[in-house]
Amino acid sequence: MPDKPLRNPCNLCHAVRAILKRPKTGQQLCKECFFHVFETEIHNTIVDNKLFRSGDRVAIGASGGKDSTVLAYVMKLLNDRYSYGLDLVLLSIDEGITGYRDDSLETVKRNRDQYRIPLLIISYKDLYGWSMDDIVKEIGRKNNCTFCGVFRRQALDRGAIMLNVDHIVTGHNADDIAETVLMNILRGDLPRLQRCTSIITNDTSDDSSGLETSKILRSKPFKYTYEKEIVMYAYFKKLDYFSTECIYSPNAYRGHARVFLKDLEAIRRTSIVDIIHSGEALSASVQANESTKLPTMSTCTRCGYISSNELCKACLLLEGLNKGLPQLGIGHSSKIRRMHEAAHALQATPSSPASPLASLSTADGAAARDERGKLVTHIRDLNRLETMPTLQAV
Ligand SMILES: [Zn+2]
Ligand SMILES: [Zn+2]
Repeated sequence: MPDKPLRNPCNLCHAVRAILKRPKTGQQLCKECFFHVFETEIHNTIVDNKLFRSGDRVAIGASGGKDSTVLAYVMKLLNDRYSYGLDLVLLSIDEGITGYRDDSLETVKRNRDQYRIPLLIISYKDLYGWSMDDIVKEIGRKNNCTFCGVFRRQALDRGAIMLNVDHIVTGHNADDIAETVLMNILRGDLPRLQRCTSIITNDTSDDSSGLETSKILRSKPFKYTYEKEIVMYAYFKKLDYFSTECIYSPNAYRGHARVFLKDLEAIRRTSIVDIIHSGEALSASVQANESTKLPTMSTCTRCGYISSNELCKACLLLEGLNKGLPQLGIGHSSKIRRMHEAAHALQATPSSPASPLASLSTADGAAARDERGKLVTHIRDLNRLETMPTLQAV
């Protein structure tokens, strides 16, 4: 008696029933075929971009979250499967956030034992004398992500130096990168657009708050990996990860970019990868442009970290914290200067006395930034209201 035809067979092996629809392509797959395509795409990304050389010592930036947990698992698996010859270590940063990082670090410690990869944890408290809990007590919940971003980047580099690694891999996924592309386009920030679309970087920084640099290579093997697929992979592999968001203020601007991206993805699943490719194409076309070149780099006179200024961003922020002037060093100096110039220009124009920007004429940079921020957010919300229905109708 012939077998009954399989209902809803896997699009690849046709031998088993499909149990999921792949977010990136819409293919219906069985679990094993999904694992295979997921892992193979990451392997192809690594090989096509020549991310590693045999013998490299590679630190995996590990937070205990889904992205870095899947990254650690897949790096170990591919290193064994394809004999990359990499010496893998886990590197975690303890920002000192009670109820968040302490719990997620317990997850990383379990991953260390599960995957048998050595782990180094370094803390803000040890490196800078301040934990994020201390900093938030001092400055409140506003701007604390600026401190955290600058400190984390330098902490990863310092940890990598302690571990004597050549290369740091991070779990940034395609959604993260597409969001960053959108944000940099909206801000007209071409140098950062270039950096965020590069799969591998050295001597550059992709955070939004400083120009510190490092000689250690950094790469993003999940550049083309969809967040939804990372979650699916972790779920079906039953990986042990920590899934709480940071308890301190979320990045509102990125939040808007994220919502926008998810709306686009709902209409067309390739939107995420399309935006990354757009970012790459734009980057390539501005590459030769003189005005997008980064400043020349030297080293911080205080700590020796690579910096375009006399003091690196972390030392500047620390100076503000230690002097009780935490606003020091927050924001781009050029932006503040432009704002002051704009404020002076308005003041000098008698025809516009009631402009909301008139309040920017106070010399207090922080207050001016707050006002300007509110205004920009408001305008963006209005624009969003106007554009969203149109986009959904496409
Ligand atoms: Zn299959
Ligand atoms: Zn420094």
